[in-house]
Amino acid sequence: MSRIMVIGSLNMDIVSRVENYPLPGETIKGIKTDVNPGGKGANQAVAIARAGGNVSMVGAIGTDVFGDQLLEALQQENIETNNIIRKEGTSGLAVITVDSKGSNSIILLEGANGLLSMDDLTDILPEAIKDPANIFLLQNEVPWETTKNIIESLSASNASIYLNPAPAQHIPTEIISKLTGIFLNEIEATIITGLSVIDQESASAAAEKLIAYGVTEVIITLGEKGSLYRDFREHVYFTPGRKVNAMDTTAAGDTFIGAYLASKQQGYSIEASLEYATAAAALTVSREGAQKSIPYQEEILQFLT
Ligand code: ADP
Repeated sequence: MSRIMVIGSLNMDIVSRVENYPLPGETIKGIKTDVNPGGKGANQAVAIARAGGNVSMVGAIGTDVFGDQLLEALQQENIETNNIIRKEGTSGLAVITVDSKGSNSIILLEGANGLLSMDDLTDILPEAIKDPANIFLLQNEVPWETTKNIIESLSASNASIYLNPAPAQHIPTEIISKLTGIFLNEIEATIITGLSVIDQESASAAAEKLIAYGVTEVIITLGEKGSLYRDFREHVYFTPGRKVNAMDTTAAGDTFIGAYLASKQQGYSIEASLEYATAAAALTVSREGAQKSIPYQEEILQFLT
């Protein structure tokens, strides 16, 4: 069976709850701390695996204890981890503090993610492109230079490349032209196209602009409003969001992307895959947490019936 190769970040999220933030120089008692695997790359890999896809994670972890835990967490999900590289030093860490009002402050330490280079992939990419059915999924949490080089190298071999440029940054049009597909939320679509993306109509216009650059397939997610799909054949589908009691929108986009690609990998149509992804993301939103809120295939299918 073909593989979805996710090339991206792995982080350990350390989330501490406090009454009020400490002032500089102050020590306070925390309420509780949770330690959970995260990172956009790993979250999307987990979303693919749980939605029934066949996935391999490519990325870097540190030589610290978090590196071992990040690896184990993926292996428990049946994600292939042979292409995860160890780098001397710490793994990617997100140190998150949430106060009693629910506002958060985050320190992101890129650790091993920041060390992933094209040199690490010289054996992995040629092997992965041998199967033309394999597809590649990238985000923007490893160095942009590495991501750019990967896209250039894969496109020279006509591989299928999907990019979720999060966190958002300007992407040169010659890189966009090499992509098979691009996944964006409203903020990313606005930054990358320069058009204000706020609804179905503006998302369609932004997607049209990206298709004119040469990308084949554009999906713009619009939070609870839903998502807009547009491709180079002028197929346009708007899929409204599913009504749920929203608890925590963390990982909604990651779940949507993972479920969509897993569904397509299993041979379902674009429209069916959009419905499946919308249901999966709605389930994620209805639960607390990041990776732990990502649903399994059985739950998604049950929600759809
Ligand atoms: P991101 O997490 O990347 O910012 P979005 O917020 O656009 O992405 O959400 C991705 C998808 O998750 C949406 O297209 C929608 O299907 C679903 N979604 C997001 N928020 C909600 C919500 N409040 N209720 C139901 N579905 C939601």
